[in-house]
Amino acid sequence: MRESGDVKGSAGATLIGPMGQVDIKEGVIVAQRHLHFSPSEAQALGIASGEVVRVRAGSGGGRSVVFEDVVVRVGPKYSLEFHVDTDEANTAGIKTGDVVHIA
Ligand SMILES: [Zn+2]
Repeated sequence: MRESGDVKGSAGATLIGPMGQVDIKEGVIVAQRHLHFSPSEAQALGIASGEVVRVRAGSGGGRSVVFEDVVVRVGPKYSLEFHVDTDEANTAGIKTGDVVHIA
């Protein structure tokens, strides 16, 4: 598990499809859950790139989850989004467009 983009020394893969084949020597990772912020959004919330926070997700009903170790990523091409993998999202019963909270 790593931050997205940190692929040095990771596993490689071969993708085969109807148009051919692509081989990569490295790049297969499980991305660590993270929050994206634009610089102005981060400034408004007093949060900085690289901080690690908790995020509460889910609408209640006994399935809300607090995600630990959520990395903050700030950049001019980002806007406020919470990225988790499908298994994590299913655990909390969340889907694209749902609102989460920094806990
Ligand atoms: Zn992301």
